[in-house]
Amino acid sequence: MADAFRAHCPRCDGVRNCIIHGAFDQPWHVEDGRNFMEGQTDHKLVQCAGCETVFYYKSSWDSEDCDYESHPVTGVPISAYPKTIETYPIPEKKSHKPDWIWSIGQIDPQLYRILDETYKAREINSFILASVGLRTAFDRVTEFLKVDVNLTLEQKVSALLASGFIGETEANTLRVVTDAGSAAAHRGWAPDEKAFKVLIATLEQFIYRVVVTGKAALDLTGVIPPRPTSPKKKPKPAP
Ligand SMILES: [Zn+2]
Repeated sequence: MADAFRAHCPRCDGVRNCIIHGAFDQPWHVEDGRNFMEGQTDHKLVQCAGCETVFYYKSSWDSEDCDYESHPVTGVPISAYPKTIETYPIPEKKSHKPDWIWSIGQIDPQLYRILDETYKAREINSFILASVGLRTAFDRVTEFLKVDVNLTLEQKVSALLASGFIGETEANTLRVVTDAGSAAAHRGWAPDEKAFKVLIATLEQFIYRVVVTGKAALDLTGVIPPRPTSPKKKPKPAP
């Protein structure tokens, strides 16, 4: 049986007992005749014993980074090398990702990938990419709900509204999500963090309701309008 040790789980975001599935310790040294430097990097593939998330854990030290202390009783100087700990992925809470996002991986892996990349973009303040991600995620949800893929995004919002799947208010905010993604993709527009928060909150509520709880999806069969004959072009409004 593998050893248990304690590490900071990136999903629970706390120190947990973990199972080591693999480990590799890599000592190193550099010398050029005058100077000598050494250190060690310990790599581990571990699994949280609580939430079962598997992650990479790295612990490293080197001789350039040294703390000098003295023994509390004898006063003899002791040198200690503090260890730098890193995990991949980094703790989830920093990425603003709601915990239910994890369950989407089992429901629709493609949607999970889109959302995961969207949160990563947001984390590094890449709001253009994150906005395009929101729009792509919305499009993927409509596909998951079997809305005609040939409709424009705006028509998809209207189809969801017509089917009673979303209300007028939600339709308006989802139109902003699709507009924002389009403006970011085609006109280089970027929302600031505050604007982005509103957009993602709207999409999160929509996804949580229709994909995670899945209640509305069951009612949808036969309600979404059939594919129109000329789907890609919107009819021009009368002059
Ligand atoms: Zn955990």
